[in-house]
Amino acid sequence: MTNFQGKVAIVTGGASGIGSAITHRLLEAGVKVAVADLNEAKLKEMEDANAGNLIGVVANVTKEADIEALVKKTVEAFGSLDFAFNVAGASKAGAITEQSEEDWDFTVDLCLKSVFLSVKHEAKYMKEHGGGAIVNIASLNAHVPMFYGAAYSSAKAGVEMLTKNAALELAQHQIRVNAILPGLISTPLTSDLTKVEAINDAYMDRIPMRRAGEADEMAGPALFLVSEDASYVNGASLLVDGAWAVS
Ligand code: NAD
Repeated sequence: MTNFQGKVAIVTGGASGIGSAITHRLLEAGVKVAVADLNEAKLKEMEDANAGNLIGVVANVTKEADIEALVKKTVEAFGSLDFAFNVAGASKAGAITEQSEEDWDFTVDLCLKSVFLSVKHEAKYMKEHGGGAIVNIASLNAHVPMFYGAAYSSAKAGVEMLTKNAALELAQHQIRVNAILPGLISTPLTSDLTKVEAINDAYMDRIPMRRAGEADEMAGPALFLVSEDASYVNGASLLVDGAWAVS
């Protein structure tokens, strides 16, 4: 069993949904957390509720300077960096024949470039300080295409391959890098879609467990991947999707 007490983690996109669930599970386990997000009000609320154990860092994960500052602030506040969960993501949907270059870039920058920048700077620190473990949030859509989701699916497939490349390069520095591929998870990101009955019914037809996952159901797999129990798990993609991928 891993003793997480006193460890330090970064969670990007931690002010909502999956990132927030991971953050709360880390805090329960005694981990100090730096949460990076654009949602300043929510970060302040989280910081006030967890004074001494959590810092909120307003950061745009698509900007390298913000990521560098995030790592620096984390180490200044808590003295080290052991784990990183690169969760922030969103997309602008569009048919391939209609999607603007701007919307494509928005999605690919937010879902893929951000993970590259995050892994780059998190691993730079970890490499010099004895290693660490990183979890990137990809998506089931890395394997399964979806209508009007070419930018998102392509970016998430990129996150999966980036994770494998990072594992390959960083293993020699005692850094493990793994990906989680969530299926449909109930969060603010999906609520607009699933409240449309026809769309929700279509999802339920495809998911053998006949329900969406809860954000909290991502937290256990995420903590497992950084734990000692996963000490030989590296470069892996963990599907957490209620068996959607095998249906
Ligand atoms: P969410 O919208 O609840 O949370 C995303 C968070 O990221 C928000 O707090 C938002 O403010 C933050 N964010 C957005 N852009 C940012 C930026 N440029 N810089 C910093 N922070 C930014 O979404 P979620 O459902 O929790 O999704 C989290 C991750 O999981 C995303 O990468 C998403 O693609 C992935 N995912 C979600 C699902 C799902 O069904 N919810 C499925 C597969 C993968």
